[in-house]
Amino acid sequence: MNFDIAIIGAGNAGLSLARNLFRDQTKKKIVVIEPELPENKVANWCTWMHKDNLSIFKNSIKGSWEDWTVSNKTQKIIHSSSSYKYVCINASMYLSQIENELNNSNILIIRDAVVEISKKNNRKEIICKNNIVSACHVYDSRPPKLNAGLLRQHFYGIEFELTEAHHIDSVILMDFDVDQYNGLHFIYALPFSERKLFVESTVISKELNQVEWYEDQIKLWMKNKNLNYLKKLSSEKGVISQGKIEYKNKGIHCIGARGGAVRMSSGYAFHNIQSQVGELANNIRNECYDVPVTMNKFVTFMDEIFNKVLINNPQIAIDLFLNTSKSLSADEFARFMTNTTSFNIWSKVIAQMPKKPFIEQILKSIKRG
Ligand SMILES: Cc1cc2nc3c(=O)[nH]c(=O)nc-3n(C[C@H](O)[C@H](O)[C@H](O)COP(=O)(O)OP(=O)(O)OC[C@H]3O[C@@H](n4cnc5c(N)ncnc54)[C@H](O)[C@@H]3O)c2cc1C
Repeated sequence: MNFDIAIIGAGNAGLSLARNLFRDQTKKKIVVIEPELPENKVANWCTWMHKDNLSIFKNSIKGSWEDWTVSNKTQKIIHSSSSYKYVCINASMYLSQIENELNNSNILIIRDAVVEISKKNNRKEIICKNNIVSACHVYDSRPPKLNAGLLRQHFYGIEFELTEAHHIDSVILMDFDVDQYNGLHFIYALPFSERKLFVESTVISKELNQVEWYEDQIKLWMKNKNLNYLKKLSSEKGVISQGKIEYKNKGIHCIGARGGAVRMSSGYAFHNIQSQVGELANNIRNECYDVPVTMNKFVTFMDEIFNKVLINNPQIAIDLFLNTSKSLSADEFARFMTNTTSFNIWSKVIAQMPKKPFIEQILKSIKRG
C-alpha cells in the first residue's frame, strides 16, 4: 500500500492532523495507523480556552468552568476568569467524531500496530503486525518511551457518582493537603455535576506508584471532605514526561507528546498539540513537511530551570506553586498555562522563584550550554 503521508497513532495529534489535512481538501493520499478504537480511549483532556474559541470543540466538551483553585492546608487561591474557561474534552468523543468525519474522506484508517519503520529508497516502509505500508512522509505520534530517571507526572483518577451533592463549584487544580512522602503530590478534581465528581491523585517524581496507592489517596481525601460515593463510573491513568523528549530517527517526523508538545513544567499538552498540528497542516499545504517548533526556546529553558529547582528543593515546591498562582490574575494564569505569555507575566512568575536556587540553576544551565 503506497501513500504520500502516513500518520502513526490516531490519538490527539494524529487525528487532529488528519482532520486538518482533510478540511484543507488535500489531494494527498493519506493513511492513519492505529491499533485501538476511539471509543475505548478513557481520558479527560483539559486545557484553558478563550471563550470565543469554545465552539470549535463544542461537541466533545464534557465540562467547562470559570473558576479554579490551588490550595494547601492553610491557603486557597481562587481564580475567576471572565475571558477564559477551564475546559474538559472527552477524549473518546473527540476522537470518535474525527474518525466519523474522516469516514467520508479519502483518508484511510488502518486498525493495526506499527512494529518497525525503515528507509527504502526515498520512501519509508512501515511494518505493522498485519500490513506493510509505504509512504513518502511519516508522522509518528506513538507515546514516547520514558527512560528511568526522567521526572514524570503520574496519576490515577476516578469519576464517582456521589450519594449526595458535593457543593464544590470550582475546579480543584491542585490541593496539596495530602501525603507528600512519595514526591510532590496533589489532588485534582473536576465537578462535572452536582453528584458527579472526578478525583485524581497526581504525583511529580521519578518513581511510579502502584494503582492502589493513588486509590487510597483519593479515598482518604474524599473521607476528609465527607464525600461518599454510590459507584465508580470510570477511571483513567497516565504517565507524562516532565523532562525533554528527543527522538532522532532520520526522516521520521515526530508529533504530539512524542514530538515535544508537552509543557515540561505542567504536563499540559492539549493546547500545544492543537497549535503544532494546525501549523504543520499549513506547512504541508505549502509542500513543507517539517514539524514546526512547538515550544519556544525560552519557555523550554525556563521550564527546565523550574523543574530542576523543584527537584533540588522539594521543601519549597508547594509554596512555589501557591505563590506563582497568587501572583497572577486568572486570565494571566490561563495565558501562562497555554503559552500565550507576555514579558510582564513571565516577570511575575520569575519574581516568585526563590532567588538563590533559581540563580544557581540558571548559571549551571548556561554553563552546560
Ligand atoms: C489519561 C491521560 C490524561 C491526560 N490529560 C491531559 C489533560 O488534561 N490536558 C493535557 O493537556 N494533556 C493531558 N494528557 C497528556 C496527553 O499526553 C495529551 O493530551 C495527548 O493525549 C497526547 O496526544 P498524542 O497524540 O501525542 O498521544 P496520544 O493521544 O496518546 O496518541 C498516541 C496514539 O498512538 C497509538 N499507538 C500506540 N502504539 C502504537 C503502535 N505501535 N502503532 C500505531 N499506533 C500506536 C495509541 O493507541 C494512541 O492512540 C493526558 C494524558 C493521559 C494519558
